[in-house]
Amino acid sequence: MDQIQKPQIVIVPSPGMGHLIPLVEFANKLVLGHEFSLSITFIISTTGSVLSKAQKSALEILPQGITYTFLPPVSFQDLPKDTRIQTKLSLTVTRSLPSIRDSIKSLVASSRVLALVTDHFGTDAFDVAKEFNIPPYLFFTSSALQLSFLFDLPKLDLRFACEYRDMPEPVNIPGFSVPVHSSDLPEPIQDRKNDAYKWFLHNAKRFVLADGIIVNSFVDLSSGVVEALQEKGTGKPPVYPIGPITRISSSSGAGRSESDCLKWLDNHPCGSVFFVSFGSGGTLSYDQFSELALGLEMSEQRFLWVVKSPDDKSASGSYFSIQSNRDPFDFLPKGFVDRTKSRGLVVPSWAPQVEILRHGSTGGFLSHCGWNSILESVVHGVPLIAWPLFAEQKLNAVMLTEDLKVALRPKANEDGLVRREEIAKVLKCLFEGEEGVEIRERMKRLKEAAAMAVSEVGSSTHSLSELVLKWKSQV
Ligand code: UDP
Repeated sequence: MDQIQKPQIVIVPSPGMGHLIPLVEFANKLVLGHEFSLSITFIISTTGSVLSKAQKSALEILPQGITYTFLPPVSFQDLPKDTRIQTKLSLTVTRSLPSIRDSIKSLVASSRVLALVTDHFGTDAFDVAKEFNIPPYLFFTSSALQLSFLFDLPKLDLRFACEYRDMPEPVNIPGFSVPVHSSDLPEPIQDRKNDAYKWFLHNAKRFVLADGIIVNSFVDLSSGVVEALQEKGTGKPPVYPIGPITRISSSSGAGRSESDCLKWLDNHPCGSVFFVSFGSGGTLSYDQFSELALGLEMSEQRFLWVVKSPDDKSASGSYFSIQSNRDPFDFLPKGFVDRTKSRGLVVPSWAPQVEILRHGSTGGFLSHCGWNSILESVVHGVPLIAWPLFAEQKLNAVMLTEDLKVALRPKANEDGLVRREEIAKVLKCLFEGEEGVEIRERMKRLKEAAAMAVSEVGSSTHSLSELVLKWKSQV
Protein backbone atom coordinates (compact mmCIF):
# COMPACT_ATOMS: atom_id res chain seq x y z
CA MET A 1 0.00 0.00 0.00
CA ASP A 2 1.29 3.45 -0.80
CA GLN A 3 2.66 5.28 2.29
CA ILE A 4 0.30 8.22 1.90
CA GLN A 5 -2.82 6.04 1.88
CA LYS A 6 -2.15 4.42 5.21
CA PRO A 7 -4.33 5.67 8.05
CA GLN A 8 -2.61 8.57 9.75
CA ILE A 9 -2.07 9.80 13.27
CA VAL A 10 -1.22 13.49 13.47
CA ILE A 11 0.94 14.63 16.38
CA VAL A 12 1.16 18.28 17.40
CA PRO A 13 3.83 18.77 20.10
CA SER A 14 4.34 22.00 22.00
CA PRO A 15 7.99 23.18 22.11
CA GLY A 16 10.61 21.59 24.37
CA MET A 17 12.62 18.38 24.33
CA GLY A 18 10.57 17.06 27.26
CA HIS A 19 7.52 16.99 24.93
CA LEU A 20 9.17 16.14 21.63
CA ILE A 21 11.21 13.17 22.89
CA PRO A 22 8.37 11.09 24.41
CA LEU A 23 6.08 11.86 21.47
CA VAL A 24 8.75 10.73 19.01
CA GLU A 25 9.26 7.54 21.02
CA PHE A 26 5.49 7.00 21.16
CA ALA A 27 5.33 7.40 17.37
CA ASN A 28 8.16 4.88 16.98
CA LYS A 29 6.24 2.38 19.08
CA LEU A 30 3.09 2.87 17.01
CA VAL A 31 4.87 2.44 13.71
CA LEU A 32 7.30 -0.34 14.62
CA GLY A 33 5.51 -2.26 17.32
CA HIS A 34 2.09 -3.01 15.83
CA GLU A 35 0.76 -5.05 12.98
CA PHE A 36 -1.79 -2.35 12.24
CA SER A 37 -0.04 -0.27 9.60
CA LEU A 38 -0.15 3.42 10.46
CA SER A 39 1.74 6.44 9.29
CA ILE A 40 2.44 9.42 11.50
CA THR A 41 2.91 13.09 10.76
CA PHE A 42 4.38 15.52 13.27
CA ILE A 43 3.14 19.06 12.79
CA ILE A 44 5.65 21.15 14.67
CA SER A 45 4.97 24.70 15.69
CA THR A 46 8.09 26.76 16.35
CA THR A 47 8.99 29.96 18.12
CA GLY A 48 11.35 31.37 15.57
CA SER A 49 14.48 30.42 17.45
CA VAL A 50 16.79 28.22 15.42
CA LEU A 51 16.14 24.55 15.99
CA SER A 52 18.78 23.20 18.36
CA LYS A 53 21.03 20.32 17.37
CA ALA A 54 19.36 18.18 20.01
CA GLN A 55 15.90 18.86 18.53
CA LYS A 56 17.14 18.16 15.02
CA SER A 57 18.76 14.91 16.05
CA ALA A 58 15.55 13.71 17.74
CA LEU A 59 13.80 14.12 14.38
CA GLU A 60 16.61 12.90 12.12
CA ILE A 61 16.40 9.32 13.34
CA LEU A 62 12.73 8.78 12.56
CA PRO A 63 11.93 5.44 10.91
CA GLN A 64 10.00 5.08 7.68
CA GLY A 65 6.34 5.91 8.17
CA ILE A 66 6.97 8.97 10.34
CA THR A 67 7.32 12.35 8.73
CA TYR A 68 7.37 15.87 10.06
CA THR A 69 6.59 19.34 8.91
CA PHE A 70 7.59 22.65 10.48
CA LEU A 71 5.07 25.44 10.67
CA PRO A 72 6.00 29.08 10.10
CA PRO A 73 7.42 30.47 13.37
CA VAL A 74 5.11 32.41 15.66
CA SER A 75 6.22 35.73 17.03
CA PHE A 76 6.41 36.60 20.73
CA GLN A 77 7.55 40.15 20.17
CA ASP A 78 4.38 41.52 21.72
CA LEU A 79 4.87 39.57 24.97
CA PRO A 80 6.42 41.16 28.04
CA LYS A 81 10.00 40.02 28.76
CA ASP A 82 8.97 38.19 31.94
CA THR A 83 6.33 36.04 30.20
CA ARG A 84 6.42 32.61 31.77
CA ILE A 85 7.31 29.48 29.88
CA GLN A 86 3.83 27.88 30.20
CA THR A 87 2.27 30.90 28.52
CA LYS A 88 4.78 30.67 25.69
CA LEU A 89 4.29 26.92 25.26
CA SER A 90 0.53 27.31 24.99
CA LEU A 91 0.73 30.37 22.75
CA THR A 92 3.12 28.63 20.36
CA VAL A 93 0.36 26.15 19.56
CA THR A 94 -2.54 28.61 19.79
CA ARG A 95 -0.88 31.13 17.45
CA SER A 96 -0.07 28.31 15.02
CA LEU A 97 -3.71 27.19 14.69
CA PRO A 98 -4.21 28.66 11.18
CA SER A 99 -1.16 26.81 9.86
CA ILE A 100 -2.09 23.64 11.80
CA ARG A 101 -5.49 23.85 10.07
CA ASP A 102 -3.84 24.20 6.63
CA SER A 103 -1.58 21.20 7.25
CA ILE A 104 -4.44 19.01 8.42
CA LYS A 105 -6.57 20.08 5.48
CA SER A 106 -3.97 18.78 3.07
CA LEU A 107 -3.46 15.58 5.08
CA VAL A 108 -7.17 14.69 5.14
CA ALA A 109 -7.29 15.25 1.40
CA SER A 110 -4.92 12.34 0.85
CA SER A 111 -5.43 9.97 3.78
CA ARG A 112 -7.71 8.98 6.62
CA VAL A 113 -6.64 10.74 9.85
CA LEU A 114 -7.62 8.60 12.84
CA ALA A 115 -6.51 10.86 15.65
CA LEU A 116 -4.86 14.14 16.48
CA VAL A 117 -2.54 13.82 19.46
CA THR A 118 -1.22 16.82 21.33
CA ASP A 119 0.36 17.42 24.74
CA HIS A 120 -1.05 19.30 27.70
CA PHE A 121 -0.07 22.74 26.41
CA GLY A 122 -1.65 22.21 23.00
CA THR A 123 -5.30 21.50 23.75
CA ASP A 124 -6.43 24.40 21.54
CA ALA A 125 -5.50 22.14 18.63
CA PHE A 126 -8.50 19.99 19.68
CA ASP A 127 -10.73 22.59 18.01
CA VAL A 128 -9.04 22.08 14.66
CA ALA A 129 -9.36 18.31 15.08
CA LYS A 130 -13.10 18.67 15.71
CA GLU A 131 -13.52 20.85 12.60
CA PHE A 132 -12.28 17.89 10.54
CA ASN A 133 -14.11 15.25 12.60
CA ILE A 134 -10.81 13.89 13.83
CA PRO A 135 -10.90 12.46 17.38
CA PRO A 136 -8.57 14.52 19.63
CA TYR A 137 -6.23 12.77 22.07
CA LEU A 138 -4.02 14.09 24.80
CA PHE A 139 -0.54 12.64 25.31
CA PHE A 140 0.32 13.58 28.86
CA THR A 141 4.12 13.81 29.00
CA SER A 142 4.27 14.05 32.79
CA SER A 143 3.22 11.89 35.73
CA ALA A 144 -0.20 10.38 36.37
CA LEU A 145 -0.04 12.32 39.66
CA GLN A 146 0.19 15.65 37.86
CA LEU A 147 -2.63 14.56 35.54
CA SER A 148 -4.82 13.74 38.53
CA PHE A 149 -4.00 17.12 40.06
CA LEU A 150 -4.85 18.96 36.84
CA PHE A 151 -8.19 17.20 36.55
CA ASP A 152 -8.95 18.60 40.01
CA LEU A 153 -7.60 22.09 39.32
CA PRO A 154 -10.83 23.59 37.91
CA LYS A 155 -12.59 22.53 41.13
CA LEU A 156 -9.84 23.99 43.32
CA ASP A 157 -10.04 27.19 41.28
CA LEU A 158 -13.73 27.56 42.04
CA ARG A 159 -13.38 26.58 45.69
CA PHE A 160 -10.56 28.92 46.73
CA ALA A 161 -10.24 32.58 45.92
CA CYS A 162 -6.90 32.99 47.69
CA GLU A 163 -3.47 32.16 46.35
CA TYR A 164 -2.99 28.43 46.81
CA ARG A 165 0.06 29.12 48.98
CA ASP A 166 -2.30 30.73 51.55
CA MET A 167 -4.53 27.67 51.83
CA PRO A 168 -4.70 26.45 55.41
CA GLU A 169 -4.31 22.74 54.58
CA PRO A 170 -2.11 20.71 52.24
CA VAL A 171 -3.83 19.49 49.07
CA ASN A 172 -5.11 15.93 48.68
CA ILE A 173 -4.67 14.75 45.10
CA PRO A 174 -7.15 12.01 44.11
CA GLY A 175 -5.51 8.60 44.49
CA PHE A 176 -2.32 9.91 46.16
CA SER A 177 -1.79 9.07 49.81
CA VAL A 178 0.64 11.92 50.62
CA PRO A 179 -0.93 15.35 51.29
CA VAL A 180 0.96 17.87 49.17
CA HIS A 181 2.10 21.17 50.61
CA SER A 182 1.04 24.09 48.43
CA SER A 183 4.66 25.14 47.83
CA ASP A 184 5.21 21.78 46.09
CA LEU A 185 2.30 22.24 43.69
CA PRO A 186 3.22 22.95 40.05
CA GLU A 187 4.97 26.26 39.52
CA PRO A 188 2.38 27.90 37.21
CA ILE A 189 -0.26 27.77 39.91
CA GLN A 190 1.86 29.61 42.47
CA ASP A 191 0.71 32.95 41.10
CA ARG A 192 -2.94 32.99 40.08
CA LYS A 193 -2.76 36.46 38.59
CA ASN A 194 -0.10 35.45 36.11
CA ASP A 195 -1.12 34.44 32.57
CA ALA A 196 0.80 31.19 33.03
CA TYR A 197 -1.83 30.12 35.58
CA LYS A 198 -4.67 31.09 33.23
CA TRP A 199 -3.19 29.03 30.43
CA PHE A 200 -2.58 26.11 32.74
CA LEU A 201 -6.19 26.19 33.91
CA HIS A 202 -7.46 26.72 30.36
CA ASN A 203 -5.69 23.59 29.14
CA ALA A 204 -6.68 21.55 32.22
CA LYS A 205 -10.36 22.42 31.69
CA ARG A 206 -10.14 21.09 28.15
CA PHE A 207 -8.76 17.64 29.07
CA VAL A 208 -12.34 16.32 29.25
CA LEU A 209 -12.77 17.13 25.55
CA ALA A 210 -10.26 14.44 24.59
CA ASP A 211 -11.41 11.07 23.30
CA GLY A 212 -8.64 9.52 25.34
CA ILE A 213 -5.63 10.45 27.45
CA ILE A 214 -2.37 8.63 26.94
CA VAL A 215 -0.06 8.97 29.92
CA ASN A 216 3.63 8.18 29.94
CA SER A 217 3.58 6.23 33.17
CA PHE A 218 2.81 2.72 34.36
CA VAL A 219 0.40 1.31 36.89
CA ASP A 220 2.97 0.19 39.49
CA LEU A 221 4.52 3.64 39.59
CA SER A 222 1.31 5.23 40.90
CA SER A 223 -1.34 2.53 41.23
CA GLY A 224 -3.70 4.58 43.48
CA VAL A 225 -3.60 7.56 41.17
CA VAL A 226 -4.13 5.50 38.02
CA GLU A 227 -7.09 3.80 39.70
CA ALA A 228 -8.60 7.21 40.55
CA LEU A 229 -8.05 8.42 36.99
CA GLN A 230 -9.73 5.34 35.54
CA GLU A 231 -12.68 5.34 37.93
CA LYS A 232 -15.92 4.96 35.98
CA GLY A 233 -18.65 7.58 36.12
CA THR A 234 -16.37 10.57 36.76
CA GLY A 235 -16.78 12.00 33.25
CA LYS A 236 -13.07 11.65 32.50
CA PRO A 237 -12.02 10.29 29.10
CA PRO A 238 -10.41 6.83 29.10
CA VAL A 239 -6.87 7.02 30.48
CA TYR A 240 -4.18 4.79 28.90
CA PRO A 241 -0.96 4.40 30.95
CA ILE A 242 1.46 3.16 28.28
CA GLY A 243 4.88 3.94 29.79
CA PRO A 244 7.60 4.09 30.57
CA ILE A 245 8.37 5.30 27.08
CA THR A 246 11.97 6.44 27.12
CA ARG A 247 14.69 6.81 24.56
CA ILE A 248 17.08 4.02 23.79
CA SER A 249 19.74 6.47 22.75
CA SER A 250 20.22 10.19 23.33
CA SER A 251 23.24 11.19 21.32
CA SER A 252 22.58 14.64 19.95
CA GLY A 253 25.59 15.97 18.17
CA ALA A 254 25.48 18.86 20.62
CA GLY A 255 27.83 19.44 23.54
CA ARG A 256 30.70 17.09 24.27
CA SER A 257 30.72 13.92 22.24
CA GLU A 258 29.05 10.84 23.54
CA SER A 259 32.21 8.78 23.48
CA ASP A 260 34.14 11.29 25.63
CA CYS A 261 31.60 10.92 28.45
CA LEU A 262 31.33 7.17 28.15
CA LYS A 263 35.10 6.69 27.92
CA TRP A 264 35.49 8.77 31.04
CA LEU A 265 32.86 6.64 32.83
CA ASP A 266 34.68 3.47 31.73
CA ASN A 267 37.60 4.52 33.91
CA HIS A 268 35.60 4.62 37.13
CA PRO A 269 34.34 1.83 39.39
CA CYS A 270 30.88 0.36 39.08
CA GLY A 271 28.09 2.49 40.59
CA SER A 272 30.52 5.19 41.79
CA VAL A 273 29.61 8.27 39.72
CA PHE A 274 26.88 10.86 40.28
CA PHE A 275 25.36 12.17 37.10
CA VAL A 276 24.33 15.79 37.66
CA SER A 277 21.98 17.38 35.15
CA PHE A 278 19.02 19.74 35.15
CA GLY A 279 17.38 18.65 31.92
CA SER A 280 17.27 20.45 28.63
CA GLY A 281 16.57 23.88 30.04
CA GLY A 282 17.11 23.99 33.81
CA THR A 283 19.42 26.71 35.07
CA LEU A 284 20.65 27.63 38.56
CA SER A 285 21.20 31.08 40.01
CA TYR A 286 24.82 32.33 40.10
CA ASP A 287 25.13 31.66 43.85
CA GLN A 288 23.51 28.23 43.62
CA PHE A 289 25.72 27.27 40.69
CA SER A 290 28.91 27.92 42.62
CA GLU A 291 27.48 26.38 45.81
CA LEU A 292 26.71 23.18 43.88
CA ALA A 293 30.26 23.11 42.49
CA LEU A 294 31.69 23.49 45.98
CA GLY A 295 29.27 20.87 47.33
CA LEU A 296 30.35 18.36 44.69
CA GLU A 297 33.96 19.10 45.59
CA MET A 298 33.31 18.81 49.34
CA SER A 299 31.46 15.48 48.93
CA GLU A 300 34.63 13.85 47.55
CA GLN A 301 32.36 11.75 45.31
CA ARG A 302 32.86 11.15 41.60
CA PHE A 303 30.60 13.19 39.32
CA LEU A 304 29.74 13.95 35.72
CA TRP A 305 28.08 17.37 35.62
CA VAL A 306 26.30 18.91 32.62
CA VAL A 307 26.70 22.65 33.16
CA LYS A 308 24.65 25.48 31.73
CA SER A 309 25.52 29.09 32.38
CA PRO A 310 23.67 30.31 35.49
CA ASP A 311 20.72 32.67 35.31
CA ASP A 312 19.42 34.73 38.24
CA LYS A 313 16.14 35.54 36.53
CA SER A 314 14.79 32.17 35.48
CA ALA A 315 15.16 28.52 36.44
CA SER A 316 14.23 27.50 32.91
CA GLY A 317 16.68 29.88 31.26
CA SER A 318 17.65 27.71 28.30
CA TYR A 319 14.39 25.79 27.77
CA PHE A 320 13.77 26.97 24.22
CA SER A 321 17.41 27.03 23.12
CA ILE A 322 18.99 24.18 25.15
CA GLN A 323 22.47 25.63 24.58
CA SER A 324 23.90 28.06 27.12
CA ASN A 325 24.22 31.63 25.92
CA ARG A 326 27.60 32.06 27.59
CA ASP A 327 30.43 29.70 28.38
CA PRO A 328 29.30 27.99 31.61
CA PHE A 329 32.94 27.24 32.52
CA ASP A 330 33.44 30.98 33.15
CA PHE A 331 31.14 30.71 36.16
CA LEU A 332 32.79 27.76 37.92
CA PRO A 333 34.73 28.57 41.10
CA LYS A 334 38.37 29.37 40.38
CA GLY A 335 40.49 26.21 40.09
CA PHE A 336 37.43 23.90 40.41
CA VAL A 337 38.07 21.87 37.26
CA ASP A 338 41.73 21.35 38.15
CA ARG A 339 41.05 20.40 41.75
CA THR A 340 38.39 17.84 40.83
CA LYS A 341 39.79 16.51 37.56
CA SER A 342 40.72 13.07 38.96
CA ARG A 343 37.10 12.35 39.90
CA GLY A 344 34.93 14.89 38.08
CA LEU A 345 34.00 15.62 34.47
CA VAL A 346 32.25 18.85 33.55
CA VAL A 347 30.38 18.85 30.23
CA PRO A 348 28.89 22.01 28.71
CA SER A 349 25.15 22.21 27.83
CA TRP A 350 24.21 18.70 26.77
CA ALA A 351 25.31 15.10 27.36
CA PRO A 352 24.06 11.68 26.21
CA GLN A 353 21.88 11.18 29.28
CA VAL A 354 20.40 7.80 28.43
CA GLU A 355 23.82 6.27 27.70
CA ILE A 356 25.18 7.77 30.92
CA LEU A 357 22.32 6.40 33.03
CA ARG A 358 22.73 3.00 31.39
CA HIS A 359 26.48 2.92 32.09
CA GLY A 360 27.48 0.64 34.96
CA SER A 361 29.68 3.32 36.59
CA THR A 362 26.72 5.64 37.16
CA GLY A 363 25.33 5.07 40.65
CA GLY A 364 23.21 8.18 41.30
CA PHE A 365 21.45 10.96 39.43
CA LEU A 366 21.12 14.47 40.80
CA SER A 367 18.21 15.60 38.67
CA HIS A 368 15.81 18.52 38.24
CA CYS A 369 13.04 15.86 38.26
CA GLY A 370 11.79 16.42 34.73
CA TRP A 371 9.45 13.52 34.00
CA ASN A 372 11.54 12.03 31.20
CA SER A 373 14.64 12.14 33.36
CA ILE A 374 12.77 10.35 36.14
CA LEU A 375 11.53 7.62 33.82
CA GLU A 376 15.01 7.18 32.32
CA SER A 377 16.43 6.84 35.82
CA VAL A 378 13.77 4.28 36.78
CA VAL A 379 14.30 2.27 33.60
CA HIS A 380 18.01 2.04 34.39
CA GLY A 381 17.55 1.59 38.14
CA VAL A 382 19.54 4.69 39.15
CA PRO A 383 18.51 6.25 42.50
CA LEU A 384 17.99 9.99 42.53
CA ILE A 385 18.78 13.17 44.35
CA ALA A 386 15.72 15.33 43.73
CA TRP A 387 16.53 18.95 42.94
CA PRO A 388 13.34 20.35 41.39
CA LEU A 389 13.51 23.73 39.65
CA PHE A 390 10.33 24.65 37.76
CA ALA A 391 7.10 23.34 36.17
CA GLU A 392 5.71 20.31 38.07
CA GLN A 393 9.13 19.15 39.21
CA LYS A 394 8.46 19.74 42.93
CA LEU A 395 5.39 17.51 42.76
CA ASN A 396 7.53 14.86 41.06
CA ALA A 397 10.09 15.26 43.86
CA VAL A 398 7.38 14.65 46.50
CA MET A 399 6.37 11.48 44.72
CA LEU A 400 9.98 10.25 44.50
CA THR A 401 10.96 11.07 48.08
CA GLU A 402 7.77 10.62 50.13
CA ASP A 403 5.77 8.04 48.20
CA LEU A 404 8.16 5.84 46.20
CA LYS A 405 11.12 6.62 48.49
CA VAL A 406 13.70 6.22 45.72
CA ALA A 407 15.29 9.66 46.12
CA LEU A 408 16.74 12.04 48.67
CA ARG A 409 15.92 15.74 48.57
CA PRO A 410 18.46 18.29 49.85
CA LYS A 411 17.04 21.06 52.03
CA ALA A 412 17.40 24.72 51.13
CA ASN A 413 18.20 27.39 53.75
CA GLU A 414 15.76 30.21 54.54
CA ASP A 415 17.40 32.22 51.74
CA GLY A 416 16.39 29.47 49.28
CA LEU A 417 19.97 28.34 48.69
CA VAL A 418 21.07 24.72 49.09
CA ARG A 419 24.43 25.04 50.85
CA ARG A 420 27.53 23.05 49.91
CA GLU A 421 27.50 21.20 53.27
CA GLU A 422 23.94 19.96 52.63
CA ILE A 423 24.85 18.89 49.07
CA ALA A 424 27.90 16.97 50.29
CA LYS A 425 25.84 15.36 53.08
CA VAL A 426 23.06 14.14 50.76
CA LEU A 427 25.48 12.82 48.14
CA LYS A 428 27.42 10.90 50.78
CA CYS A 429 24.21 9.57 52.31
CA LEU A 430 23.04 8.12 48.99
CA PHE A 431 26.35 6.40 48.31
CA GLU A 432 27.59 5.56 51.78
CA GLY A 433 24.63 5.66 54.20
CA GLU A 434 22.18 2.96 55.28
CA GLU A 435 19.30 4.95 53.79
CA GLY A 436 21.14 4.85 50.47
CA VAL A 437 21.16 1.05 50.54
CA GLU A 438 17.37 0.94 51.05
CA ILE A 439 16.80 3.53 48.33
CA ARG A 440 18.90 1.55 45.87
CA GLU A 441 16.99 -1.63 46.72
CA ARG A 442 13.62 0.09 46.13
CA MET A 443 14.86 1.56 42.85
CA LYS A 444 15.94 -1.90 41.73
CA ARG A 445 12.41 -3.20 42.33
CA LEU A 446 10.93 -0.25 40.46
CA LYS A 447 13.22 -0.93 37.52
CA GLU A 448 11.92 -4.50 37.40
CA ALA A 449 8.31 -3.28 37.57
CA ALA A 450 8.98 -0.84 34.71
CA ALA A 451 10.43 -3.60 32.54
CA MET A 452 7.46 -5.81 33.36
CA ALA A 453 4.95 -3.08 32.39
CA VAL A 454 6.30 -2.84 28.85
CA SER A 455 6.88 -6.59 28.41
CA GLU A 456 4.64 -8.58 26.11
CA VAL A 457 2.20 -9.34 28.92
CA GLY A 458 2.65 -6.05 30.79
CA SER A 459 -0.05 -3.55 31.76
CA SER A 460 1.30 -0.76 29.54
CA THR A 461 1.53 -3.03 26.49
CA HIS A 462 -2.07 -4.00 27.13
CA SER A 463 -3.16 -0.33 27.36
CA LEU A 464 -1.39 0.56 24.13
CA SER A 465 -2.99 -2.38 22.32
CA GLU A 466 -6.40 -1.26 23.55
CA LEU A 467 -5.78 2.21 22.14
CA VAL A 468 -4.54 0.92 18.78
CA LEU A 469 -7.55 -1.40 18.54
CA LYS A 470 -9.84 1.56 19.15
CA TRP A 471 -8.15 3.44 16.30
CA LYS A 472 -8.23 0.38 14.08
CA SER A 473 -11.96 0.00 14.63
CA GLN A 474 -12.48 3.42 12.98
CA VAL A 475 -11.06 2.21 9.68
N1 UDP B 1 18.62 15.25 27.92
C1 UDP B 1 19.78 14.71 27.39
N2 UDP B 1 20.95 15.34 27.67
C2 UDP B 1 21.04 16.45 28.46
C3 UDP B 1 19.85 16.97 29.00
C4 UDP B 1 18.66 16.34 28.72
O1 UDP B 1 19.77 13.71 26.66
O2 UDP B 1 22.15 16.93 28.67
C5 UDP B 1 17.34 14.59 27.61
C6 UDP B 1 16.93 13.67 28.73
O3 UDP B 1 17.48 12.39 28.54
C7 UDP B 1 15.41 13.72 28.65
C8 UDP B 1 15.11 15.11 28.10
O4 UDP B 1 16.31 15.56 27.50
O5 UDP B 1 14.97 12.74 27.72
C9 UDP B 1 14.71 16.09 29.19
O6 UDP B 1 13.39 15.89 29.52
P1 UDP B 1 12.86 16.11 31.01
O7 UDP B 1 11.40 15.82 30.99
O8 UDP B 1 13.65 15.33 31.98
O9 UDP B 1 13.14 17.60 31.36
P2 UDP B 1 12.91 19.00 30.57
O10 UDP B 1 14.10 19.14 29.70
O11 UDP B 1 11.62 18.89 29.81
O12 UDP B 1 12.89 19.99 31.67
